[in-house]
Amino acid sequence: MVDVGERVGTVVVGAGIVGLATAREILVRDARADVVVVDKEEVVGAHQTSHNSGVIHSGVYYPPGSAKAELCVSGARAMLRFCEDHSILVRVEGKLIVAVDEAELGPLAELERRASANGVPGLRRLSAGQIAEVEPHAHGVAALHVPGTAVTDFAAVARALGDDLVARGGRLQLGLPVSSITGDDDGVRVRTDCGLVIEARQGIVCAGLQSDRLAGYPADLRILPFRGSYYALGPRAAPLVRSMIYPVPDPRFPFLGTHFTRHFDDTVSCGPNAILALAREEYSRWSFSTADTWDSLRFPGSWRLARKHWSTGLRELADELSKRRSLRSARRYLSDLEEGDLENDDALGIRAQAVDREGRLVNDFVLRRTGPLLHVLNAPSPAATASLAIAERIVDRIS
Ligand SMILES: Cc1cc2nc3c(=O)[nH]c(=O)nc-3n(C[C@H](O)[C@H](O)[C@H](O)COP(=O)(O)OP(=O)(O)OC[C@H]3O[C@@H](n4cnc5c(N)ncnc54)[C@H](O)[C@@H]3O)c2cc1C
Repeated sequence: MVDVGERVGTVVVGAGIVGLATAREILVRDARADVVVVDKEEVVGAHQTSHNSGVIHSGVYYPPGSAKAELCVSGARAMLRFCEDHSILVRVEGKLIVAVDEAELGPLAELERRASANGVPGLRRLSAGQIAEVEPHAHGVAALHVPGTAVTDFAAVARALGDDLVARGGRLQLGLPVSSITGDDDGVRVRTDCGLVIEARQGIVCAGLQSDRLAGYPADLRILPFRGSYYALGPRAAPLVRSMIYPVPDPRFPFLGTHFTRHFDDTVSCGPNAILALAREEYSRWSFSTADTWDSLRFPGSWRLARKHWSTGLRELADELSKRRSLRSARRYLSDLEEGDLENDDALGIRAQAVDREGRLVNDFVLRRTGPLLHVLNAPSPAATASLAIAERIVDRIS
């Protein structure tokens, strides 16, 4: 517990995978550091960290030279090591990115170019006939095989990071909502809903879906919540997927498209889609928050985004409302799927995705430092994969 009037070394807001990894990294570098992590929830990793696909990405998609490319590749290596050291289950069975028609061959070639430039190991371009060697039930006109892609349980990683942090002398203060954080030459003041004020030499805010709010709503970007829901494949269809089958993503969006994933616990999911949500941290399809919706609506970038991409948005919504449409989309990759194979569509996650004033979805990670305060303003996928590398970069910046 932080005592009233106590001044700490570093306060980290957010006990998601990024905040925990960052706090731990400070202690790895300096065992005497005084670090406190604050989160409003009663458990670590309550939001994006425990509502995702669980894929340790390899670094295929991201433009060479971007922070995503660099930190995904080094972060994936670090994540695999961390999981091994902490006995967290990982399956490294690779993924297949499948082009289903000629129009996707150009974008697939671009992915291959990016992946090679990013140093993704073991890449292999497959012809239509070779696809079945990797995924016997998938079909397309060509594919990219990425053998090093793995799956794990990021919620378990967050718990292990939290335990490690405490074992190294860090403090975890859960169930404590932060209302604001300010910084100046004297340091940082974190105000909590219950009236407690934590003073610190420096502060790092890794607040995921609330990151723009805690940064005082920066003029140039806003967090939009994009909901993604998953179907589970039933027992008849689950064996149709050996490991992971991904589409060639639409290059206009930072989302990877609905994919099939065999998870660490051997369940197989199909998802997530991407639909603008009306609440940031509520996990029901029909959740509505006036404050969250108002925050989206009063930012000009949201309207510009909607104007540019309304037809894609409507298509995603129609697919979500109609299981038959979802099945039709899924059958482009696995034609053996039948009605009834898509089950339990109640698993969902909400992505914290920044949009700029022009209505562009911000592609790269955004870290912004002002004086003793550093805000993580955009850490969508693959930030779980990259979390240990993002942590290193943050600590380099604040040191
Ligand atoms: C559907 C989906 C699929 C994904 N799939 C993958 C994948 O396969 N691989 C991958 O690498 N990434 C994936 N991601 C992305 C990944 O989950 C996130 O990038 C990552 O979890 C971000 O971690 P974070 O710590 O920044 O955010 P979060 O996990 O959201 O943590 C933020 C924390 O801040 C806390 N907080 C917020 N506001 C306050 C406040 N006012 N006071 C106190 N605490 C506060 C929250 O309670 C929360 O615990 C996916 C994401 C989604 C949604």
